[in-house]
Amino acid sequence: MSAAIETVASAARTDAPPAITLDRVNKWFGALHVLRDISMEVALGERVVVCGPSGSGKSTMIRCINRLETHQDGRILVDGKELTDDVRSLDAIRREVGMVFQSFNLFPHLTVLENCTLAPIWVRRMPKKDAEALAMEYLTKVKIPEQAKKYPGQLSGGQQQRVAIARALCMKPKIMLFDEPTSALDPEMIKEVLDTMVALADTGMTMICVTHEMGFARQVADRVVFMDRGEIVESGPPDTMFNSPQTDRLKLFLSQIL
Ligand code: ADP
Ligand code: MG
Repeated sequence: MSAAIETVASAARTDAPPAITLDRVNKWFGALHVLRDISMEVALGERVVVCGPSGSGKSTMIRCINRLETHQDGRILVDGKELTDDVRSLDAIRREVGMVFQSFNLFPHLTVLENCTLAPIWVRRMPKKDAEALAMEYLTKVKIPEQAKKYPGQLSGGQQQRVAIARALCMKPKIMLFDEPTSALDPEMIKEVLDTMVALADTGMTMICVTHEMGFARQVADRVVFMDRGEIVESGPPDTMFNSPQTDRLKLFLSQIL
């Protein structure tokens, strides 16, 4: 890339829109009000950890950001583009936002390599050879290139979750969402997945991670957001949140998990 183009690109970045904006977002499941006036901005390159009791709306919020769920009131913008029912906007969002779930969600009948190349080939129209080279690059980054020809069922939970991370990265997302990626894992496998996520954070990736791994939060989070009963109750830097929580609800939550 020429110097001139680089200058233009970095100038554009300084007034780039936030990676994610939630503006008074509300959502109901029937009569149940699960997201209550949620407002939050995530800057490009920022790492946000979301925590809170079970049922507080963390997954629903994350799923609204890549429109696996739809909100009924308020606005959500991803990379400056508002989420609407327009199919093209949905396509654009899904390309920019990678998601990793608690339960891995790999395709059991496809090899690790095929899991990683499926979307790049069919959604990004990437030639198979290029998609495979890219997949091997990311499988190497998550330290399991030797598993490429195996099926998910032949891998440990920690290895499967690292495949899920590699698979998401193969779409070259600008933003990565994690929903309790280590909570289905045996304790000895949690570290290898967290290490992978720390390495990803070190690349400058914009991340929202729902997790109760407070060591991880302290290590990488710019901000911790505490949710309870559909609301953001408190947010701030990890040290402030964990050492001097302001609300009784956060104090209670911390006393239960730490
Ligand atoms: P968390 O991830 O914080 O545990 P969730 O976002 O999964 O919380 O759930 C928030 C609330 O919404 C819970 O009361 C849950 O039972 C309810 N809920 C989640 N998904 C659905 C759904 N598809 N239909 C009806 N209720 C749901
Ligand atoms: Mg959840």
